[in-house]
Amino acid sequence: MGAAMRITFFGATKTVTGSCHLVEVGGLEVLLDCGMYQGHDAARNHEAFPFEPADIGYVVLTHAHLDHCGLIPKLVREGFRGHVISTRPTAEIARLILLDAAHLQEEEAERGARRALRRGEPPPGALFDVGDALAAMDHFSLRVEYGQELALDHGVSVVFHDAGHILGSGIVELRAGGKTIVYTGDLGSWGRPIVRDPSSAPPCDLLITEGTYGDRPHRSFAESVAEFRDAVNAVLGRGGSVLVPSFALERTQEVLYVLYELWRRGEIPRTVRIVLDSPLGSAVTRTFSKYPDWFDREGREVFARPENPFRFPALSVTRSVEDSKRLNHVGGGHIIIAGSGMCTGGRIVHHLRHRLWREEDGVVFVGYQARGTLGRAIVDGATRVRVLGEEVAVRAQIWTINGFSAHADREELLRWISGAEAGRVVLVHGEEHALSALASGLAPRGIATTIPSPGDSLEF
Ligand SMILES: [Zn+2]
Repeated sequence: MGAAMRITFFGATKTVTGSCHLVEVGGLEVLLDCGMYQGHDAARNHEAFPFEPADIGYVVLTHAHLDHCGLIPKLVREGFRGHVISTRPTAEIARLILLDAAHLQEEEAERGARRALRRGEPPPGALFDVGDALAAMDHFSLRVEYGQELALDHGVSVVFHDAGHILGSGIVELRAGGKTIVYTGDLGSWGRPIVRDPSSAPPCDLLITEGTYGDRPHRSFAESVAEFRDAVNAVLGRGGSVLVPSFALERTQEVLYVLYELWRRGEIPRTVRIVLDSPLGSAVTRTFSKYPDWFDREGREVFARPENPFRFPALSVTRSVEDSKRLNHVGGGHIIIAGSGMCTGGRIVHHLRHRLWREEDGVVFVGYQARGTLGRAIVDGATRVRVLGEEVAVRAQIWTINGFSAHADREELLRWISGAEAGRVVLVHGEEHALSALASGLAPRGIATTIPSPGDSLEF
């Protein structure tokens, strides 16, 4: 007879950030992800955890994106003494992501403190600081390979399968008391560079899957590459330079991969200067270089060559703020890749101030732009925007390329979930309309689904 297992859904329920679910079995408490809320839900990061951090034995971390790992420092600060379980690359990338987030939190708290001082209010504290992020890393004590079964206390075991989403991302298979839960974290898209295709789901009693794009298809990767190529050639052809706002983790490495292939085949000018101007993007790229065994077969072959997407004559990497500033004075012929991906901070903002008003230049967006961000305003066609406190006219040509998504689209989700041998299916990590659309697509295939609200539990 197996012990009853209970799972409670806290974060990323009917929304796409703050992934966090609690599994309780035989006195053991395990968290599946402990992610930060972003965008409209960000205020929720400051709420108390709906469980006691000191009672959590393990955090099983699917991958290093902030919306899956970002509250681990807060968890540690509030008493968590257990272990974080992840794949080896995830642990190393999470260190970079959490330290970067801690720096941003500290800067934001400082600005908040100055504002509060002027208003005569008590200063808001930082969510966590660099010390908390470093302390959190001491808990990343269990680092595994795909397929390696890890036995925990209370007869619970964990195995990671390749989720094909970003480097090191895992689908978690958690077994306890004769029952099996499978949790996707984020599920990748098929046929993308560097990462492998997602593994199929192991047979399970409960499948918890993401459904970010449950309501829509993506444009194909090949079409997106062609669109990118045409944008670069249009801008360089008239003597301009291209800005690419890019997320530091995975998207930046993919953009380098695509640009390298275009450059190698002569589909963009061989004279182009590609500049990676992102300290975090560079650090993550260096980490990728250490894990070629985790790439797909094509990626392993490409990166085994001395000249490869992270090291080729047209590519340079800025080392200092001065290097970055020098780019303000270059005219045409450059492609500058910088963060943040939604233009909410980082070096891209300085480049936008220097180039948005230039008709010959171009900005190519390769990632999702959330409402309320500078990136979204530009994508939505604003003719003037405020950048670093200054009004700037938008005269550069703007492109939005949608097909570089790291998430499975509707068809891929329907196919993957239909192929799973699962007793029950729960949909999380998606806006409510996307999850409902996915549920409607699964129903005719005889698959009933549950879409939990925050705090909902299942026992089985
Ligand atoms: Zn993710």
